[in-house]
Amino acid sequence: MDFEFSQEDQAFREEVRAFLSENVTPDMREAVRKTTTVFADKELAMRWQAILVEKGWAVPAWPVEHGGTGWSVTQKYIWGEECARASAPGLIPLGLRMLAPVIFKYGTEDQKNYYLPRMLSGEHYWCQGYSEPGSGSDLSSLKTAAVKDGDDYIVNGTKIWTTHAQFADHIFCLVRTDTSGRPQAGITFLLIPMDTPGITVEPIITIAGDHEVNQVFFDDVRVPQANRVGPENEGWNVAKYLLEFERGGGGAAVRLKESLKELRNIASSELANGEPLIEDAGFRNRISELEIRTSALEFAELASLARMSRGESPGTASSLAKNTSVEIDQGILTLKLEAVQHYAMPHANKISLDGHNEPWPGPDHAETVTPRYLNVRAASIYGGSKEVQKNIIAKAVLGL
Ligand SMILES: Cc1cc2nc3c(=O)[nH]c(=O)nc-3n(C[C@H](O)[C@H](O)[C@H](O)COP(=O)(O)OP(=O)(O)OC[C@H]3O[C@@H](n4cnc5c(N)ncnc54)[C@H](O)[C@@H]3O)c2cc1C
Repeated sequence: MDFEFSQEDQAFREEVRAFLSENVTPDMREAVRKTTTVFADKELAMRWQAILVEKGWAVPAWPVEHGGTGWSVTQKYIWGEECARASAPGLIPLGLRMLAPVIFKYGTEDQKNYYLPRMLSGEHYWCQGYSEPGSGSDLSSLKTAAVKDGDDYIVNGTKIWTTHAQFADHIFCLVRTDTSGRPQAGITFLLIPMDTPGITVEPIITIAGDHEVNQVFFDDVRVPQANRVGPENEGWNVAKYLLEFERGGGGAAVRLKESLKELRNIASSELANGEPLIEDAGFRNRISELEIRTSALEFAELASLARMSRGESPGTASSLAKNTSVEIDQGILTLKLEAVQHYAMPHANKISLDGHNEPWPGPDHAETVTPRYLNVRAASIYGGSKEVQKNIIAKAVLGL
């Protein structure tokens, strides 16, 4: 295992740093600072995507002939680290990082030629229609039905927790096309334009006061069979392949390190008993504990990178990394919440949701703490819940 960066990697880092310092503008950084949700704001993400597309750096993981960068695994890590350090906006992963690999592997030539360029240009904005009421962890029990009618399917049912469905013009969907065998054996993967008659989107407002997720209803929605990815009734394999990319993001430690720096800054400017909070040994210890866990996570991620650069898959390391990074993230936000004390009480998102326009009463660093603290609770649920990851670790790592 070699954790040293080569001279070429150092030169690459300088190039990335120069690009980011020129292109991440102060207003973008401010918008990132104010983001309280899992994904960046749509406008911001699309603006950043256009800049990266022009540079040729929007989709590092894609094959080079389709717009990928051909970067090594280490270069991709450096890119992630520098983006976090520069507070660059995140790109929305639903199309670019999750659906694209599926189209590359299972899509027809027509599907590749039609969907991939539009995804890259930002003309198409995707959402993910997997979960249903009653079918989340136990996804293969899903019931949204697609029945053949001539060259089409007629889709009826509902999807829930659909992130950014209110913005999306396309949804990739798991539907049931057979009920006769094992639940996994009767699932099909469909691509559906959101403006198809019969689709309605209802908002779900989260405890954090955000409109991030939705429920989507399908009422006799006609979808051409040409929009199917992979064979009928074999969508479960396609669905699982996509989940590898949803869960295997990696690079969480670089973002957590930035959040820890912010926590130290907050603790330095907030007072406890007349002294800066950072002088309190008990509070400092709790920060240090999170810093140590973050360092351990970073080395685990680097070890995973080293394995991937030798062509091995991250395997169960991604389940361990997911649970650990979520626990650290939640731990950091708990300390931020404690540090800002009574300024955690006015909840900016909720206030604006209720139609108030009062100015924020506290320091800038406190404004996003409560909505982020609340939003990050969901991280132990989406992308495979904490308990489900523990089941994977128990079976695959501990052999239980
Ligand atoms: C913010 C947010 C965004 C989301 N975005 C999307 C999206 O864009 N598209 C989409 O399709 N879905 C999305 N989801 C849905 C998400 O994938 C599901 O919520 C998740 O899979 C859990 O399913 P569930 O909510 O039905 O809970 P359940 O599966 O009912 O789980 C309830 C509880 O039981 C536990 N549990 C379940 N099974 C087991 C088991 N075998 N052993 C031990 N414990 C178990 C779980 O860990 C959990 O604590 C999103 C969810 C959230 C919170």
